[in-house]
Amino acid sequence: MITDKQLLEEYKKADDIICGCEEISFEEFKKYRLAQLYKNMPLLVEKIKNEGIIKNGNILKVDSFLNHQLDIAFLEEIGKEFKKRFENVKVDKIVTIEASGIAIATIASRYFDNAKVVFAKKTLSNNLDNEIYSSKVYSFTKNIEYNVMISKRYLNKGENVLIIDDFLARGQALNGIYSMLMQAEVNIVGAGIVIEKVFQNGRELLEQRGLRIESLAMIKNLDNTVEFYP
Ligand code: 5GP
Repeated sequence: MITDKQLLEEYKKADDIICGCEEISFEEFKKYRLAQLYKNMPLLVEKIKNEGIIKNGNILKVDSFLNHQLDIAFLEEIGKEFKKRFENVKVDKIVTIEASGIAIATIASRYFDNAKVVFAKKTLSNNLDNEIYSSKVYSFTKNIEYNVMISKRYLNKGENVLIIDDFLARGQALNGIYSMLMQAEVNIVGAGIVIEKVFQNGRELLEQRGLRIESLAMIKNLDNTVEFYP
C-alpha cells in the first residue's frame, strides 16, 4: 500500500496528476490521491457495515448477501460496478472458483455481453475431463491444501479472461486461478474482487506477477469493527 513518503514524492510532481489546479496542501492532495487509489463502492461498504459479522481469525462473514443467502438485486449492483471498473476492456470469458464465485460471476457476465463463465472445481469428479489444468491452493481459513481444476476444453489460448472472486485475503485462491490461466496461455485482463482484506497482503503477490486487481471494498482492519481504506 502507498506510503506517506511515496505520496510526498507524487505531491512534488503533482502537476502531472492534477491538471489545472490551484496550489493545494499536501493533506488535501493526500485525501484526493487516497480516494483515487481506494475506490470503495459505497453501497457495498454500507452492506458490510450493516450485515457483516467479524469472526475469529480475521474472518468476515457476509452470509446474508454473498456466501450463503444471495441478494440478487445487490449482486446486480456488483456486476455493474465491475463493468465500470473494466469499462473499455474486452472480456471473452469470466473465470471464477466454486462455490461463492459462481453467483457473482454469473450476474457480472450480464454486464460483459453474457461472456461465458467457467468456474474452477475443487473436487475431481468422474465427469471432469481427463485433460485439465490444475493448481494447488492453500486455504489459511480452513488450514488445508486443495487442488483447483479447469477442463482444458473451456479455456482457449489468446482469449481475454477476467477473473472474478468474492474475497482476496492472502492471494492463494487468486494465485491458483492465475497459474491455471497462464498454463492455458489466455490473456488475463484483470481480477475483480468483491472484498479485499488488504492487511493480508494478497494483492502484492499478484501485482508482482502483473495482474491488475480491482476490489470493490478494501478492508484495512477487522479487529473490532470493519475499517475501510483509506
Ligand atoms: P486467499 O486465498 O486470498 O487467502 O483467500 C481467499 C479465499 O478464501 C476466498 O475465495 C474466500 O472463499 C476465502 N476467504 C478468505 N478470507 C475470507 C473471509 O474473511 N470471509 C469469507 N467469507 N471468506 C474468506
